Amino acid sequence: MKSSPTNALPSEVQALVNQTIESLKDLVPPTPSFVSDEIQDAVFEAIDAVDKDMRALNLAIHDNPELMFKEVKAHAHLVSALTKLGFTLTNPSSLPTAFVATYTHGKGGRVFGFNSEFDALPNVGHACGHNLIAVVGVAAAVGLKAALKACNIAGTVKLIGTPAEEGGGGKVILIREGLYDDLDACAMAHPGGGYGPTPFTGSAHIGGPASLARAGFDIEFHGRGAHAGAAPWMGINALDAAVQGYTAVSMLRQQLEPTMRVHGIIQGSEQWAQNIIPSYAKVSYSTRAMTVKDCLTLRKKTIACFQSAAEATGCSIDISAKDDEVYADMRNNEPLSLSYASFMEKAFGDKIATEGMTTASTDFGNVTYKVPSFSAGYEIPSPVGAGNHTAGFAASAGKPEAHKLSMKVAKGLAVIGAKFLSDSEFAKETKKAFEKFKKETGDLQAPSLSEGFEML
Ligand SMILES: [Zn+2]
Ligand SMILES: [Zn+2]
Repeated sequence: MKSSPTNALPSEVQALVNQTIESLKDLVPPTPSFVSDEIQDAVFEAIDAVDKDMRALNLAIHDNPELMFKEVKAHAHLVSALTKLGFTLTNPSSLPTAFVATYTHGKGGRVFGFNSEFDALPNVGHACGHNLIAVVGVAAAVGLKAALKACNIAGTVKLIGTPAEEGGGGKVILIREGLYDDLDACAMAHPGGGYGPTPFTGSAHIGGPASLARAGFDIEFHGRGAHAGAAPWMGINALDAAVQGYTAVSMLRQQLEPTMRVHGIIQGSEQWAQNIIPSYAKVSYSTRAMTVKDCLTLRKKTIACFQSAAEATGCSIDISAKDDEVYADMRNNEPLSLSYASFMEKAFGDKIATEGMTTASTDFGNVTYKVPSFSAGYEIPSPVGAGNHTAGFAASAGKPEAHKLSMKVAKGLAVIGAKFLSDSEFAKETKKAFEKFKKETGDLQAPSLSEGFEML
């Protein structure tokens, strides 16, 4: 419907609306000031100097997609590149493909962290652009390292290589094992695109969840095989149980809030045949919601769909869910995000959206509950329909233009890192905002499947 002048608000109401909008602006914290030209120049020069090496590293990862926990080649490429760039490499974790690259200048400074992801998806390769995330992390660490040295800033830059984001909860495990304990703040970036025209070039959403919490589960159905023609009554059909549960979830979906998601697949067996009643079937599901609590409640409701299907068909079931794969909603730190948005606009004319959210999920959400941190989203050119998790996006993530944009984002992250390490007032403001957020939301408890059941 086209709007017409008759739809306009009466002038006194409009005046009241304008007044309210103006008063709300007072609640927004002032835009933080920027870093010195000296810091900015050191960051930009250092990142420009490694651009070709970063492109080679990016392609080495992109062209050899590896799945969660098995990112062996990517890990080797990253460790080798970071060693050459003058970082100290360690891996104090239980995950063979994790790493920590550290550089310290002076004594007694704060610690700023970056995260590099580098896992791919089955069949579609680097369809989430984690090859780009990997080099954004490295380049940002290089830029911040250069600024510490050139401007004599005491502090430590720590790049954490985080495996298994597309499942497995690499960061959840690394948090538990203490790799984030000494960080004062942390940042990463994530590419997106292919969703159609957007009025912004990037995002750093604040004021609520920037992405949804996510929990997963698997259910195995055990029935009994039989001849499908001669004696079907002798069988207990595990596939029927999975299909019945799948259908029940589709009905449940009608009653969910718009921000909730539930999605999954039926996985069978290579032994399935059309003339044998299937004795085995498996479903693998995710639930998503604005908070971990709501996400676990939804998981309970979804599991009930499959429990009832098992009962109806006479199958027995095994439910499994890993606490490490419960991803928290992402809560970007406000001063870090606003400072990044301001800097990107000033330096590059980029419009960074600080309102809104994505209904995807990330284990970086758990990091945002552990230390003041933020994730910068950025758009890479990708045809409409070729968004994240499609083969088209994997192709886009390997293009020179995507690399160029990634290096620009790395500059922004490094500058914010330098600001945090060199500006005590800004660091204090960041910590204060984090403490306020934690006071409002409470600690993120390690949820378990049984807790999920107790929630209703
Ligand atoms: Zn993804
Ligand atoms: Zn991703």
